[in-house]
Amino acid sequence: MTLKTSKHHKKKITKKSHLHSPKLKWVSTRLLDDVFTDEVSLFKPEFKVDYEAYLQRLWDSNTDIHNILKSANSLEAVRDELFNYLDRAERKIFDINNDLHILEKSTVRECIRVFRSIIGPINEFRTEFSALESLWKLAQNRRKELQSEISVGFILEFINLFRGVTGKSNIYLENTQVKKGIPEFLKIRGKHAAIVRMEILDDIGTSVQKYLKKYPSGLEEEVATWRAENKKKVLRYFNGTEDDWNDYKWHLKHVIKDASPLLALIELTNEQKEAVDKAVRNKIAFGITPYYLSLMDTRFSIGYDHAIRAQVIPPMEYVEKMVEYRTNPDISYDFMGEHDTSPIDLVTRRYPIIAIIKPFNTCAQICVYCQRNWEIERVMEPRALATKEKIDAALAWFDKHKSVGDVLITGGDPMVMKDTQIYRILKVLASKNHIYRIRIGSRIPVVLPMRITNDFINMLSEFHNPPKLEIAFVTHFEHSYEVTPESMEAVQKLRRAGISVYNQHVYTVENSRRFELVKLRRDLKAIGVDPYYTFNMKGKDETSKYMVPIARILQERKEEARLLPGLDRTDEPVFNVPRLGKNHLRAGQDHRLVMILPDGSRVYEFHPWEKNITPVPPYNYVDVPIYDYLEELAARGENVRDYRTIWFYY
Ligand code: SF4
Repeated sequence: MTLKTSKHHKKKITKKSHLHSPKLKWVSTRLLDDVFTDEVSLFKPEFKVDYEAYLQRLWDSNTDIHNILKSANSLEAVRDELFNYLDRAERKIFDINNDLHILEKSTVRECIRVFRSIIGPINEFRTEFSALESLWKLAQNRRKELQSEISVGFILEFINLFRGVTGKSNIYLENTQVKKGIPEFLKIRGKHAAIVRMEILDDIGTSVQKYLKKYPSGLEEEVATWRAENKKKVLRYFNGTEDDWNDYKWHLKHVIKDASPLLALIELTNEQKEAVDKAVRNKIAFGITPYYLSLMDTRFSIGYDHAIRAQVIPPMEYVEKMVEYRTNPDISYDFMGEHDTSPIDLVTRRYPIIAIIKPFNTCAQICVYCQRNWEIERVMEPRALATKEKIDAALAWFDKHKSVGDVLITGGDPMVMKDTQIYRILKVLASKNHIYRIRIGSRIPVVLPMRITNDFINMLSEFHNPPKLEIAFVTHFEHSYEVTPESMEAVQKLRRAGISVYNQHVYTVENSRRFELVKLRRDLKAIGVDPYYTFNMKGKDETSKYMVPIARILQERKEEARLLPGLDRTDEPVFNVPRLGKNHLRAGQDHRLVMILPDGSRVYEFHPWEKNITPVPPYNYVDVPIYDYLEELAARGENVRDYRTIWFYY
């Protein structure tokens, strides 16, 4: 395959590299359209939002609702009228003479459910905001009385909801097969039906292939060729040899801890350099292994390494917020509430059968959006290993909790420990009869695959003893571009020893374009890794730019992952509820949308995994606005129209 310079990255560079060329203006990234109209112009750098036009579109999208909002003389009157309107709309979909497509009816039902939830007084009380009141005041032109400024993101949510409740979602607008009635291939029989259907499936298949070509992996020859050059440059810079490269200890000794090697070996924007400098000056954890650096494109014009850079080169906004938080004692980094689920130092437990042990709290390199970076002070911090006393006490804790049968050793990254240290922990855990599985959670196959040595494999094999005890490996590839011949070799060594390897990826703006994750799943399966979880990223202000709305994860699952064979899409999209644990996002009954805030953020009520087992209260989560996310995609050269159904995933 011939790789072309990515359009995406060119645009991104224009935006990020303004410090290099002061005359270059920031590309305006205001959103382009309401993602529904047919005639959409795709990317307008100087686009200006016409707020009034959006508002008019809102009222035009459902004149009945507009009239209710305009004419009611109190909030309670408008609420009553709207509930009645939604009741009527719902009954209408059960009418025999309702000629909406049956799938569109399903969207109507879903939109009505969501709308009712948003205008319910209890949800206004719990979220301390009334979207209904804002809509009412906007319709009555009483803008000065609004509680907060209402964003275009908010208006777009309601344009879609207003349309959705009357069956005008337009989801199937462009689909000639599924407008109304039965598609052609179901009206006919036999070979002819099969041939007609083949055309449709071939069309979809061809379009998937086109998307996949946008995301090369490191297994592709051309990428491997320029990475061989990168490797030589890195070795020259550090005075290393080929043997050194294959020795993980050499990499750990040369972990990059400031901007100089980056400046010498790859193109870096001034902003990236300043961000790294500021992080280093302020002791914000930062580090990159020489191997991982060799995966970066030396020139911007190649443009495939965005996900790799974004993981380890902190954005300035992130560094500034981290510095600010350092001085604010009210801010807790422990946004997952791990302190509250840790019965003893080093152990975390949120489930009856699973517990985590964290003997080591640093890593070979530092991921900017790491959920645990509040615990990690410095890359390769010499004091990162817990004391022997603490580790022994944590291991002894398992004796008193015999229902825990599955133990995850994580950190930090436990694979940065010495083999002897890992051995000691494995030996103690393996001696406990109630423990039937030990998982090692590590990014090593991605950031330092040479660490998976033959000695290490032999050590694991000593404990991997089915059916009594399984050793499994859980890793974290984020992007196809991280999949390399070296990482494949590391994974294959584990697989040859009978050890399963699973992947937990975090869904971020860096891997969330159409079919980007599909490509990752395919590449992972190709090297022997089973996709396990897709984590929704959440929580922290300093990394909000990386975040993807929940609606996009659901859309990806339904419209992209679903096209893959079942063996390729084995991961489950999950939301990790602070203090409680994983909520399966596909289980619609375990979360619901309860409000849309002025900035367009959705508020979700997440139910605990214990639902229907034991009563634990739900958790309210404020998501990133869909509009802001689409804006970011547009800035990266994506056609936001391609994502237009996102509004209908709740
Ligand atoms: S390797 Fe894992 S624990 Fe370490 S910084 Fe990255 S995500 Fe966090």
